[in-house]
Amino acid sequence: MGSPRHTAATTVEPALELVRKYNIPGPRYTSYPTAPQFTPQVDREALLAEIAADNRDDAHPLSLYFHLPFCETLCWFCGCTTVITSRYDSATEYVRWLEKELALTAPLLNPARPVTQLHFGGGSPTFLVPADVRRLGAAIHRHFRFAPDSENSVEVDPRRLTRDHVQAFRELGCNRASLGVQDTNPQVQIAVHRVQPMEQNRQAMAWLREAGYQSISIDLIYGLPLQTPSSFARTLDEVLTLYPDRLAIFSYAHVPWIKPSQKIFENREQLPDTEAKLAMLLTAIRRLTASGYVHIGMDHFARADDELALALANGTLHRNFQGYTTRAGASLYCFGMSSISQTDGSFRQNCKELPKYIAGLEAGRLPIERGFLLSVEDRRRREVIKQTMCRNRVDYPGLSRELGFDVKATYAKEIESLADLEADGLLQRDEHGFAVTPLGELFRRIIAMRFDAYLDRGPRRFSKVV
Ligand code: SF4
Repeated sequence: MGSPRHTAATTVEPALELVRKYNIPGPRYTSYPTAPQFTPQVDREALLAEIAADNRDDAHPLSLYFHLPFCETLCWFCGCTTVITSRYDSATEYVRWLEKELALTAPLLNPARPVTQLHFGGGSPTFLVPADVRRLGAAIHRHFRFAPDSENSVEVDPRRLTRDHVQAFRELGCNRASLGVQDTNPQVQIAVHRVQPMEQNRQAMAWLREAGYQSISIDLIYGLPLQTPSSFARTLDEVLTLYPDRLAIFSYAHVPWIKPSQKIFENREQLPDTEAKLAMLLTAIRRLTASGYVHIGMDHFARADDELALALANGTLHRNFQGYTTRAGASLYCFGMSSISQTDGSFRQNCKELPKYIAGLEAGRLPIERGFLLSVEDRRRREVIKQTMCRNRVDYPGLSRELGFDVKATYAKEIESLADLEADGLLQRDEHGFAVTPLGELFRRIIAMRFDAYLDRGPRRFSKVV
């Protein structure tokens, strides 16, 4: 079955009716099963056995992630795991703990395995002073061998960036960066406690280009206090003058039960309503596709010649905790508090609180707080959900051949449950599979949820779809 490619819905009607109907809390499916299923009761020995089993093939690639949680001030919308401080020596000390975690982890891995991806996220990786960045880089390269075409990226906060930060991350191999911008409107910036003049974005972009970073992405958020569709359109126009290679346009996730700082937005009654949020999303899709970007899926856009756009076109796009990627099959080894590692059959998450993370390392063990071991059934459903999220279509015969079981017969009940979504024009089914329509692209999570076996188990604590 072909995918009805691809002019996503670009008018508020009829999408608004459907958003009202389907705007329920849902996972973003950066993993399946999703993080709320991870448990402290997981068998620790079995998790370590998964790491050993993951090592069999010398060529099996590695993807490394380092969580650098420090920020000087809190942006009130923030949903990340952060440590707010102005003490740079906290970060210096943290790098020492990362070195210790690297030293405990590396001996568990086959040294021949190549690193094909490296990512520094946070928090603000650029909170580290450049000397600490270089020290961390040296430790990583001491323990791991990198593939020549490895994709190495860093999240950059333009507000406190220096040319030396840009250089230090470049020296350790970073060739990609994403700039946290969020919104360029001064009133919105004051309302979210993140003042960032456009000049700082321009300067950051110039330093990154000058240092030879090949791909630079800009992150924006829609649904923030005081944003309107027209103010957000101006933000889009402004950031387009920076010529980013990619853009990530995230929906603001209002989860005050997890992030109490977000309650301030409710008290001030400044949040845009669902209709305004949808108009912002559709404006972004229209403006960016008209400017030569391809809508990759969910919140990601890339230039038409970017490898993400090419991977979408040829069906080789994948999804992991950092969003969409072209690098398939790599096991994810993550370092730092709260980070989540993944092998084909397991997830394990480090302690979310800094003192507990440090205590684990002090005791000479991996600071694992919870985890999950996937069953055969989990792996099967994971593939159906991945195809829905990454390829906009699920091809029953192809997937059945790949996985060695009859997808259509096994999930007949789930496939039948798609009838209402088909009637609303979100997908098209035939005997060989189903394809997400352009309108349905906004609701991919809703379609994927029909194949999620865990939604009924435990409370739903996710953000809304739009
Ligand atoms: S800089 Fe980023 S991680 Fe830090 S508080 Fe702001 S949004 Fe959160």
